[in-house]
Amino acid sequence: MNSKIKRVNRINSANLVKILVIGFLAVAVTFFVYITGGTKKVFVHLMYIPTILASWFWGLSGGLLAGIFCGLCTGPLMPLDVALGVMQDPLNWISRLLMFSLIGLLTGYMIERINKLNEEKQEINLKSPFYNLPNEKKLFYDIEDYIKLNKYLKIISIKLTNLNEIEKYVDSKLAYDIVDELAEKLMHTCGKKTVYSYDRDELIVLVCGDCVHGYEEKIKEVLEYYSAFPVSKNGYKIRVSLKVGIYIYQGEKASPTEIYNRARIAYEQGETKETGVYYYDDSLKNKRREIQDITGAILESIQKDELFVVYQPKIDIVNNRISGVEALVRWKRNGKDLIGPNIFIPIAEEIGFIDKISKFVFDCVTSQMEIWKRKGIDIKCSVNTSVHELIHDDYTLWAKDLIEGKNINRSDFELEITERAIAYDDKRLIEKMHYLKELGYQLSIDDFGTGYNSLMSLGEIPFDTLKIDKYFIDRINKVEISELIGLFIKYAHTLGKTVLAEGVETEEQLNRLKELNCDEVQGYFFSKPLLPEEFEVFHTEFTMANK
Ligand code: C2E
Ligand code: MG
Ligand code: MG
Repeated sequence: MNSKIKRVNRINSANLVKILVIGFLAVAVTFFVYITGGTKKVFVHLMYIPTILASWFWGLSGGLLAGIFCGLCTGPLMPLDVALGVMQDPLNWISRLLMFSLIGLLTGYMIERINKLNEEKQEINLKSPFYNLPNEKKLFYDIEDYIKLNKYLKIISIKLTNLNEIEKYVDSKLAYDIVDELAEKLMHTCGKKTVYSYDRDELIVLVCGDCVHGYEEKIKEVLEYYSAFPVSKNGYKIRVSLKVGIYIYQGEKASPTEIYNRARIAYEQGETKETGVYYYDDSLKNKRREIQDITGAILESIQKDELFVVYQPKIDIVNNRISGVEALVRWKRNGKDLIGPNIFIPIAEEIGFIDKISKFVFDCVTSQMEIWKRKGIDIKCSVNTSVHELIHDDYTLWAKDLIEGKNINRSDFELEITERAIAYDDKRLIEKMHYLKELGYQLSIDDFGTGYNSLMSLGEIPFDTLKIDKYFIDRINKVEISELIGLFIKYAHTLGKTVLAEGVETEEQLNRLKELNCDEVQGYFFSKPLLPEEFEVFHTEFTMANK
């Protein structure tokens, strides 16, 4: 209310200044016409200046009024010839008054038209090309206005995570209808002018100052509605998944783009396709910045010779022998900071650098296996494989040629594929796995138990070893977990597969696993991942001790 009054006051004072300028100019021209000898001189035409200026200020009506006023100033009281004292013929000054008014009217009309066209252009510029909503430019302008008025803001960004898929695979019109409907719901909840569109799959709600509280709950209700009910439209029943990022702006120094980005950073922390509400905090931004930093540096890691491979022994606990090693990549950035694969492998997968890392690891491993063979250490080695590369045709071609010209067998290799990455209904992946097995590679399911698949569906995929995730081994002292591990082992044995327990750290865990008939273990109890020369020492000592 207060700001409205302030704005009206500002508008009135600006108009007053303009009126004074026009008045002053008209009086100045009148005076000039008089002292230069009257209306018979051309100076009378100077009256067009205030007339046109008034049209510019106020359009058609301003131009007309100024035209009449200027016509009257040089009207009946202004002599034709001041020196001779000759007054004007009424026809003379009336026709001039009409002329001034006409010019004021016409220029005012033209200026109004130009302004209107400009406004229309501006409006198109500020409108989403996809929906009947303002776009991000308008959002940034509005945020800027609120910042100037020192308002608190809540910016709520709503990302429709599966909209692209709906558009591509179901019905493109349906995708747009879904967003329109969601925008309607949000406008109904938060007010007509609060909803903006950014791209096809993102809506933004901007709630300002006095009314920031309470909207969150309302937005959550809208979200809950979408996670509970499918959208029924055009004969389809579709689940829409939404991620919401919320950032509360409280007057800190930030540009409109930064403010908006914080809401986006907030929702990006959510899993790719999960529905949920996420809040921004500064650590998120720092984390993202770190990731960007790593993303840039990883591209140079191979060329700068910063990657290397370590080997963790796998122990056959039935026959007390080393059954193999797992190759695990390490990155020593700038020769000092050791960055874990859990951080850089997902990034490498995202930016398509994983195939280069895999080739590097395979190169290291094949060379190392040849060296060990020459030294009398004939050992199987497993390598982790990312699903992103596995489904690529290049990978299978490359896997075919991998050991070409080397003194090693494909059966000495085991490819580990994490259970999370395996969707048992993904025919393409299963076919690729069959192909790799036909080529002679061993396959194992890594981190078993962390995915969403059932034990029963294991029968449908080709593999040799089941690696039970450390999560279960850490909790083996709990009866129900121990029974579950026993079940995994029994079922895998009925399928004729080997079972390995990951992350074994204590003797108690080892003994329990022996009781449950587990075949192999891997973990710090026996050894951490080792450099090649460290592994050679471990191999000698272990073999000697278990002769
Ligand atoms: P993973 O394949 O499940 O590897 C096992 C991880 O558990 C390794 O972590 C290993 O160092 C760790 N570990 C083994 N025993 C123990 C134990 O007793 N206690 C504890 N606390 N940890 C243990 P790492 O080396 O950090 O690797 C993490 C993950 O990164 C791997 O999980 C694998 O998925 C991925 N990874 C590593 N190297 C590569 C690679 O060359 N290519 C691909 N695509 N992924 C890789
Ligand atoms: Mg592994
Ligand atoms: Mg694992």
